[in-house]
Amino acid sequence: MASTNLPAELTDFADFIQIGAPLATYTQLRIGGPAECLVQPRSLAELIAFVKRCFAKHLRFRILGSGGNLLVQDEGVKGIILRLAVPAFTQITTDGARLKAGSGATLSSVIAHATHAGLAGLETLVGLPGTIGGALLLNAGDRTSDIGQYVRRVEVLDSQASVQVREHQDMRFSSTGTILDDPILLSAEFELERERADAIVKRLRKSWIQHKAMQPFSYQSSARIFKNPPGLNAAVLIEQTGVIGTKVGGAFVSERNPNCIVAEPGTTARDVLRLIDLIRTRVQDRFHLELELAITVW
Ligand SMILES: Cc1cc2nc3c(=O)[nH]c(=O)nc-3n(C[C@H](O)[C@H](O)[C@H](O)COP(=O)(O)OP(=O)(O)OC[C@H]3O[C@@H](n4cnc5c(N)ncnc54)[C@H](O)[C@@H]3O)c2cc1C
Repeated sequence: MASTNLPAELTDFADFIQIGAPLATYTQLRIGGPAECLVQPRSLAELIAFVKRCFAKHLRFRILGSGGNLLVQDEGVKGIILRLAVPAFTQITTDGARLKAGSGATLSSVIAHATHAGLAGLETLVGLPGTIGGALLLNAGDRTSDIGQYVRRVEVLDSQASVQVREHQDMRFSSTGTILDDPILLSAEFELERERADAIVKRLRKSWIQHKAMQPFSYQSSARIFKNPPGLNAAVLIEQTGVIGTKVGGAFVSERNPNCIVAEPGTTARDVLRLIDLIRTRVQDRFHLELELAITVW
């Protein structure tokens, strides 16, 4: 890791910046080193001022949601990590069949809110870790539906740090993610369907049972590792190589979903990376196919 001091260009923002802040607790794998500079603005005004400064000084930043799709390396992450987890970025409101959620709101809180309001559509996402920002960027979902299909419009900060509204047709949603030409997603508005809450709860239970059967236990730190190759299922390919249960350090291939790696306490990012290499090699040897990473390594 580099410096332990606040960069001179950012001293005005010291109130909401931490230098060398641990990141592991903010990720689903719960491993990895600290952020050189973790920035958690307390309001939209603070976020805009901060981002303007970054643009003016050519400082690059990355955004952290709930770290469901990230592997933070043991040595930590250089540069600026932005986290939008305070109430200013997590609010959820409804208006008729529309639900608006801040990008830092978790999928689980959005689904709970929608259910109470009698708004249906997002049930298949139940049990997926993630914030609205991360889930939308990755167009989270399963083979039957994805989050993008319910999004009507989003609010973003554009490359000038101005708030802009983008309509559904301004974005491109696909199974590999969402193309949004703006650096920061602020909120998303979903168009859902009105339905009795008890009928929604029934579907939620069904989805929950299906998801949970195919995911590591909720108390386990884990991540889904590879993308599904076109027309194929990465978990099935991995299972056929016989690596289920294989362990490197504290990292092992999940029995419930062979495309997930579980990290026991004490696991290092290096363990996970070595296990990823091992799985890739086995799949390559057996099927002559190179699995592509779904998670991003920071
Ligand atoms: C055990 C397990 C099982 C999973 N199963 C599935 C599954 O079945 N289907 C599926 O689709 N996914 C699955 N995932 C992946 C995970 O649910 C999604 O990747 C998740 O929605 C990502 O959200 P996040 O908040 O954790 O994003 P992060 O991992 O924190 O970030 C993901 C990306 O989004 C960017 N980002 C985050 N917020 C913003 C923002 N406000 N503005 C701009 N960019 C932003 C980040 O910079 C990063 O590039 C699984 C994950 C785990 C751990």
